[in-house]
Amino acid sequence: MEKLIITVAPTGSVPTKVQNPHLPLTPQEIAETAYRCYNEGASIVHVHARRDGRPTLDAEIFAQTHGLIAQRCDMIVQISTGGRAGTDPVARAAAVRLIKPEMASLTTGSVNFPDRVYENSFETIEYLATAMKKAGTKPEMEIFDGSMINNALRLVRQDLASEPLHFNFVLGLLGAQPAMAKILLHLTELIPAHTTWTVSGIGRHQLPMATLALVMSGHVRVGLEDNLYYGPGELASNEQLVARVVRLARELGREVASPAEARRILGLHRPYRNHLCCGAGGVQQW
Ligand code: MG
Repeated sequence: MEKLIITVAPTGSVPTKVQNPHLPLTPQEIAETAYRCYNEGASIVHVHARRDGRPTLDAEIFAQTHGLIAQRCDMIVQISTGGRAGTDPVARAAAVRLIKPEMASLTTGSVNFPDRVYENSFETIEYLATAMKKAGTKPEMEIFDGSMINNALRLVRQDLASEPLHFNFVLGLLGAQPAMAKILLHLTELIPAHTTWTVSGIGRHQLPMATLALVMSGHVRVGLEDNLYYGPGELASNEQLVARVVRLARELGREVASPAEARRILGLHRPYRNHLCCGAGGVQQW
């Protein structure tokens, strides 16, 4: 089996420090958390930005976070282009245009979130995909149901995304698909061979979905963005959630990928170069 890529999603747009004091919000806090998770075995960090605790699409804050992480370690930085901080596609792509990160998230359809409709028209999806293509950024296709897989494959036919694709199946969110083994299996059967996938179980579904992925040759995303708890009533830290997946992987005979190995598995071709630092505000450039 391929080595396991662990993504940590430490912040998200929704959780608050009142809910979990371990939640990192500032660029400094996120970078320090990312580094602790790297030391535990995470190779990708999925980054959201906050300003005064609230979600923002401010590209400079993303860039500052990206730079601070790259100073500490060679993790793959995956910038969120999610729409909770703002729905304007131009603003959602701003950090991708500025930073040209190795990876960014790309939701390829619309879904009911518990508090709103998360709307991603074909026009928006194509705009974000185009920005990623121009930046040399590999999208992680955020998949909430099977139709979004079709929409991601359409981007390949439109020459707006390159194979092999990488999918993230988000399961267990109110309004989207339930976190069930047969749903996960179904989604993995819909994607082409030679693609890679990871799973994000929401809340208490994070642990069982991660465990399934370990034995199904998938990859795993954990972190406080998706789940604030280690167990019933017990708050987690990001690094605790990463460390638990690493322990499970070892018990199940699955080796954990380093960032360099994750780059090979995902087909990321840019070498890590943390000595290159230029642009306004110490923006990390590649
Ligand atoms: Mg996110």
